[in-house]
Amino acid sequence: MNIKKYLSVLLSALFVLTSCIYPAYAHTTSQASQLLSDPDANPDLNSLGGEKTGWSISESCHSNGYYSSYWIYEPLPIGDTYEKILPEMQKKIGAAAGKWRSTMGFQFERLYTTPPNGMIYALTNQSAPWAAMFTPNYINPAGHITSWRIDLNYRFTITEVTVAHEFGHVLGLRDLYASNNNNKLMYYSETRTATNPTKHEYYAAKTITGIGHQTHTWTGGYQYLGAIGGVCYHTTKCKDCNGPSVMHKVRCTYNANHVCKHCGGRPTA
Ligand SMILES: [Zn+2]
Ligand SMILES: [Zn+2]
Ligand SMILES: [Zn+2]
Ligand SMILES: [Zn+2]
Repeated sequence: MNIKKYLSVLLSALFVLTSCIYPAYAHTTSQASQLLSDPDANPDLNSLGGEKTGWSISESCHSNGYYSSYWIYEPLPIGDTYEKILPEMQKKIGAAAGKWRSTMGFQFERLYTTPPNGMIYALTNQSAPWAAMFTPNYINPAGHITSWRIDLNYRFTITEVTVAHEFGHVLGLRDLYASNNNNKLMYYSETRTATNPTKHEYYAAKTITGIGHQTHTWTGGYQYLGAIGGVCYHTTKCKDCNGPSVMHKVRCTYNANHVCKHCGGRPTA
């Protein structure tokens, strides 16, 4: 439709504007010079951290700065497959935004007229296994999401935690799948027990959006990383975000009981 084309031109104009307004908050260097990727993380996704770290951030898909705006989609009166997002759900979306604003200062702002960065849709899809889904519509060459959408599936109960999880993806946090991470907001399943971003997750979100925590404070403690090419490694971690240090990545050294003297890890079989 023509109106869509018109809208997308308007949208792109706004995104260019947005990136010009907040240059001071853009992160200029890759965090890969400071933070490691866990051996279990998918290297194709340019992610740092991982299941062992308790958060995973994507350098190729994240928000730049402290702000993203959204519209709540208003379905057409007839013939629209999307559902109306009623005030009760709108309140949950607002509460989800509040979880990020209060913990790290990131603002998700609901707009009514000005073209937004993101759109939120609701639908009932009885065959889809997901309760909510985040999709980046456009990522610029710097890895910054300039257009996104979140779909809520009314087949399931959508809570403010569900929405806060999806907003986490807008920031640049990735899903966690290991069962010991079910206490994190970014645990992939609705069985997660976290109701807010955990401390480490909000530090990680600050890091990836470039709005703070660009340098880390390494502790003396050792964190087992895992085996890379059959060799076990450990490193130190940041006291704030729990991120593993690039600088301190060291091979494990074993005692007579075949336990690493530093991290307690064992050689792989
Ligand atoms: Zn960036
Ligand atoms: Zn997710
Ligand atoms: Zn840190
Ligand atoms: Zn070790």
